Amino acid sequence: MRLQGMSLARESKDDCPVCGARIRLAEVEPHPIRAGLAILGFHCEACGPVKSLVVVSQMKNQRRLC
Ligand SMILES: [Zn+2]
Repeated sequence: MRLQGMSLARESKDDCPVCGARIRLAEVEPHPIRAGLAILGFHCEACGPVKSLVVVSQMKNQRRLC
């Protein structure tokens, strides 16, 4: 049951909402306002940039090392 939930989440993340084709992670940018967050940009080969996702980045660890 756990695996089913994970695969569903991955599918929705990897499919283009416009044409349904597979999309891939193309950009990772730091969030312009919220420190510690990053924006992932997903591109579809047919439709271009179709999706973005805000995630927690590892910038805190990097700062600590500096
Ligand atoms: Zn598409």
